[in-house]
Amino acid sequence: MTFRGVRITILLGVLITLAALTSWERWFVAQWMRPLHIVIYPINGDHNEQVQAYIDALTVDDFTEISQFINQQSARYRLTPIAVPQVKLAHTIATEPPLPPKPPASAVDIALWSLKLRQYVWQNTAFWQSLGQVKLFVVYHQGEDGVALEHSLGLQKGLIGVVHAFAQPQQNAQNNVVITHELLHTLGATDKYDANLQPIYPEGFADVDGNVPHYPQSEAEIMAGRIALSPTHAVMPKRLQDCVIGAKTAFEIQWH
Ligand SMILES: [Zn+2]
Repeated sequence: MTFRGVRITILLGVLITLAALTSWERWFVAQWMRPLHIVIYPINGDHNEQVQAYIDALTVDDFTEISQFINQQSARYRLTPIAVPQVKLAHTIATEPPLPPKPPASAVDIALWSLKLRQYVWQNTAFWQSLGQVKLFVVYHQGEDGVALEHSLGLQKGLIGVVHAFAQPQQNAQNNVVITHELLHTLGATDKYDANLQPIYPEGFADVDGNVPHYPQSEAEIMAGRIALSPTHAVMPKRLQDCVIGAKTAFEIQWH
């Protein structure tokens, strides 16, 4: 075989192995038979001392309600209980994950960004150890009133989430809503809101059996991300206790 042939063979081998590992991870988490490992990697998004002090004070207890929420919601759909998910707080990462291309982005831009993100994960996590674990990179910002944070995202390929969150203790409960939303994306759940950020009926509603016209709702379906108060007004839930996992999301994450 020529040198070029050898190189192509090795490259193909690497790509096939990566694709196989990615499918295995997806299959593995969809079983719900072993505890789902959710690993939080904090990142100082503002590179200042205030955000660092907030990160240094974080403990795993600040995130355990995420596993409690998933466990408690699963009981509404599954006859056999799931293994209780485990949350781990990992080391802080010094650099931020690559930002997704701004829309309208070409398929090539998106593919390149997704490769860069995989490389970022590769460089900052223990590869073999983190296989089959959901890796959530939480970028903390002090935040300014009226200035929106970057959009958070969760990818099923590679079980990777990037969450932009507020470095304020009073925001912890709402940060956990955003973290859980992105975590469920990594497990295959889709968004359930429309172009105006309004929850879509019925899959984006927490209570679908109540009286017509279904408004106002008192809880949010987690993948709709908002509580529909009227057909044109919805608010973000303040904590996971104000959220549910709806039937469609439950189906998407293999709770059936
Ligand atoms: Zn989403």
